[in-house]
Amino acid sequence: MNNVKSNILDEINSLKNQFNKEFDKIINISDLNQIRVNYLGRKGFVSSYFRRLGEFSVEKRPLIGNELNELKKYIEEKLKEVNKRLIQIEKTEKRYDITLPGFKRFIGKKHPLTMIMEEIKSIFSFMGFEIAEGPEIETDYYNFEALNIPPGHPARELQDTFYLTNNMLLRTHTSPVQIRIMEKTKPPIRIIAPGRVFRRDTPDATHSPIFMQVEGLYVDKNVTFAELKGIILTFARAMFGKDMKIRFRSSFFPFTEPSAEYDFLCMFCKGKGCKICKGAGWVEISGAGMVDPEVFKFVNIDPEIYSGYAFGMGVERIAMFKYQIDDIRTFYENDMRFLNQF
Ligand SMILES: [Zn+2]
Repeated sequence: MNNVKSNILDEINSLKNQFNKEFDKIINISDLNQIRVNYLGRKGFVSSYFRRLGEFSVEKRPLIGNELNELKKYIEEKLKEVNKRLIQIEKTEKRYDITLPGFKRFIGKKHPLTMIMEEIKSIFSFMGFEIAEGPEIETDYYNFEALNIPPGHPARELQDTFYLTNNMLLRTHTSPVQIRIMEKTKPPIRIIAPGRVFRRDTPDATHSPIFMQVEGLYVDKNVTFAELKGIILTFARAMFGKDMKIRFRSSFFPFTEPSAEYDFLCMFCKGKGCKICKGAGWVEISGAGMVDPEVFKFVNIDPEIYSGYAFGMGVERIAMFKYQIDDIRTFYENDMRFLNQF
């Protein structure tokens, strides 16, 4: 009889252990209800032990019954406690409406200069220009000499320069790309050369020691100045609108002849005169002209057969007009409050 008694008490104890293991795996109300039915239900483990009480002597029954009641109370209380916690969790989850759109993650965006550069490239690509690139570290020859700017030429002084050695420098313009392309390509040549350039300028609202240029070059038989004007006008209208006008003012560059500065009609006042254009009604964009025959000689293109035009533009300047930005330095300060506006 002692054996039987100790066996049933051991069984009750191991039932408790089994419950504890299953209890630890409860993660929701449905798990909890399943365990409640398995242990406390009419056909559950605890009830089945109560039904077996009759198998034991009248003296032993109170002890075993007491153990079973203790186990039942233990299970009930643990389930009650976890039930409370699960209800709390489910209430919290219901506060989130899963049908709402998810949280927006911050993904980077393009820098305004990148956007303008892409727009410039796409406008010229559309007109049949290829994109050409060259090194940012140039030799004196490509940056100056082959562009008809020999040592001692005053044009060198206008481009106060970062020299790396006597002969190597950070390019002051994208024009060396013209020379590099013409050296190894037979006309017709129709390229734009976008890229960074460097000048020893003191930064202010309109100057930065690093800025971006796009250089354009077209060389073929019978290329005329009228075509140059046509290309600039087409670009101006694609970038700033159909009513855009341009004007050319005569100028001088060592690598073009004749040379011109070109202006766009002020996009803010449409020519009436405002603060941006300082009352002029026009804003200065950059320079252009017909490729100087002297330059063709450096690259072995016969100026008797071929002619060409070249033009440049400052990307920051275009972006400043396009987005109405009045300080070039804002492009390089990496201030997210500024950049997020685009
Ligand atoms: Zn204006």
